[in-house]
Amino acid sequence: MSTILETRGLTHVYGAGTPFERVALDHVDLKIEKGEILGVIGHTGSGKSTVIKLVERFADVSEGSITIEGIDIRDLSLHALRGQLGYVPQKAFLFSGTVEENVDYAADELNAERVRAAAEIAQADFVDDMDEGFKTEISQGGTNVSGGQRQRLAIARALATDARAFLFDDSFSALDYKTDAALRHALAEQLGGKTQIIVAQRISTVLNADQIVVLDDGRVVGAGTHEQLMEQGGFYAELYNSQFAQAS
Ligand code: ADP
Ligand code: MG
Repeated sequence: MSTILETRGLTHVYGAGTPFERVALDHVDLKIEKGEILGVIGHTGSGKSTVIKLVERFADVSEGSITIEGIDIRDLSLHALRGQLGYVPQKAFLFSGTVEENVDYAADELNAERVRAAAEIAQADFVDDMDEGFKTEISQGGTNVSGGQRQRLAIARALATDARAFLFDDSFSALDYKTDAALRHALAEQLGGKTQIIVAQRISTVLNADQIVVLDDGRVVGAGTHEQLMEQGGFYAELYNSQFAQAS
């Protein structure tokens, strides 16, 4: 196996030296092998989005490093870095334009086949029921689609690129459990073994990941498969029990 992404001692401080200083990540070590699915779970404010933002280089690390195939991401151009990564932000954003323009946003020329393939994996079958299907105009701010539909179109947009790895930052949170499961199944089956980082608050979303990292207040408090984490007890097992009790 070859390591695609690795963080070493990843530390990030927001507002360093100001009264609002906040250590969002504190020496986080992650290692993802090519083709692996990494789940990252933790409560709001635990630092999940910060990991993703640092990988995308929306901010630079305060301390430590992030490497992609052994190369420090600061040594890559932003274009080269982001071209490899299919990033779906926590707040899905739609542009004014048609559904297909929104999905094929990164391409120079629209390709209907690519749009449909991406939409199929993203479980965006609701598009067929829209007035003009993929030609339907998305209203300003995407008010004519629901939160879950917006998330699926944003996911389809990432899938329509030729990224080698996908970063899903809480991108399944507005989906019902059934759609969430169908989508993750399609991603695993149809992405041809591309690397995925799936950030979530719901345990069910990361349960089948090859590796799950548990973040609490910027620190890694557990890592392993679902079974290993359940056996270890502690934070993850408590989270599982609380969410399972809620669901049943
Ligand atoms: P999560 O995605 O797990 O909810 P975040 O990575 O968004 O967590 O945030 C981790 C911590 O960093 C939180 O305490 C949050 O308030 C803080 N934080 C996030 N973004 C900023 C920012 N741009 N400026 C200051 N603090 C921030
Ligand atoms: Mg977040």
